[in-house]
Amino acid sequence: MAWRFALLIDSVASDLQRGDFAETFTIVDPSGPVLSLGELSAQRGDGVFESLGVVDGHAQEVGPHLDRLAHSARLCELPAPNLDQWRAAVGRVAAEAGRGEAVIKLILSRGVEHGPSPTAWVTLGDAPDNARARIEGVRIATLDRGYALEAPSRAPWLLLGAKTLSYAVNMAAIREARRRGADDAVFVTTDGFVLEAPTASVILRFGDRFVTPEPSAGILHGTTQRSLFAHLEQSGFETAYETVLVTDLVRADAAWLLSSVRLAAPISAVDGEPVAVDRAFTDALNAYLLSPRD
Ligand code: PLP
Repeated sequence: MAWRFALLIDSVASDLQRGDFAETFTIVDPSGPVLSLGELSAQRGDGVFESLGVVDGHAQEVGPHLDRLAHSARLCELPAPNLDQWRAAVGRVAAEAGRGEAVIKLILSRGVEHGPSPTAWVTLGDAPDNARARIEGVRIATLDRGYALEAPSRAPWLLLGAKTLSYAVNMAAIREARRRGADDAVFVTTDGFVLEAPTASVILRFGDRFVTPEPSAGILHGTTQRSLFAHLEQSGFETAYETVLVTDLVRADAAWLLSSVRLAAPISAVDGEPVAVDRAFTDALNAYLLSPRD
């Protein structure tokens, strides 16, 4: 990803009054050396992050993303982010975005080993071209995540449900999916339930009813899924959080991967078996997701 703009946040100074937040931001060269070699985010992936979509300069769903950043920080026992300060930082960075689609990343790292404070920064980058995934869809491979549905309640230290910087497993899953001739992966439990994709939520349509796996299954509660469910409910559809069987992926009338930057990508094949893509309905979903959302 080409970074266009970046700023560091002095999160220790976060008790400043609202109007003074700009003083806590240091604009840095996005292609220059910025972080210390001792950074625990780089050494251990020890930190949390968020990726926001930006459309024509409008950062989407800032509140839900900040809430999830705070939730992830709590699970990782990181200091609570000052959400007003982070909101001001997002506003400062979004002001650089211009027209078209872009990505804002928020990163809160545990900081330098034995250092005094966390490291925090916000970047602006170009969005990849997602037109093909939105129109033609994505072929998915189901991949066993290696634990049963109730694992998160027995093993909270796995940090399932926190958006941590440790995404090596998620990236490995996408590579494995590609080796299997697919475009993306969907994680499933050892007992046969659907979880999520490595960087997206899964939703399925059965008639006028839309379902997604329960967030308590140790998956991220997607901001895009939540926004879309609210929109679908307003449009008269029923929505529900449920346990979703792997076999539902081919039984559903349609299914999508949802995420903040790629938005709605219809699933076009499951483990090599083609499934129907509703092009017109998907276009309508993406038109909604590209509209300004708070
Ligand atoms: N699940 C995982 C593991 C993710 O990494 C993401 C987004 O990056 C999502 C779900 C979708 O979340 P959102 O819609 O907030 O982008």
